[in-house]
Amino acid sequence: MLPEDEYLSNEELTNLQGGLEEQLKSLMSQSREAVSRLTEVRETDADPLDLAVTESNRDFSLRLADRERRLVAKIRRSLDRMQNGEYGTCESCGAAITYGRLVARPVASQCIDCKTEAEQMEGRKRLF
Ligand SMILES: [Zn+2]
Repeated sequence: MLPEDEYLSNEELTNLQGGLEEQLKSLMSQSREAVSRLTEVRETDADPLDLAVTESNRDFSLRLADRERRLVAKIRRSLDRMQNGEYGTCESCGAAITYGRLVARPVASQCIDCKTEAEQMEGRKRLF
């Protein structure tokens, strides 16, 4: 059992949910804009120099889009976990994730200890 005050209150949960939904909405409209910008540019630019710039912009946009897609998936997953009542607990050890951490990083699915450990493992893997 966790100490009572480590669980999220309904108000805190509502705040976090609102924040996530806002973020999701703005990400969705951003990516729609990015896609329409991409198609526009492709059709109108003929100059080879412009085209090179366009290509690198396109690479950048695609990379960005990839990052955004991952973030969108994380947000959706967090919202799902809210529905299940799992939100705010660590996926790895089941400990409560503090409200402060969730405000800073609403898509966090691990407590700071597990996250740090996972990152250290990642780092070690990359080293070898
Ligand atoms: Zn944990």
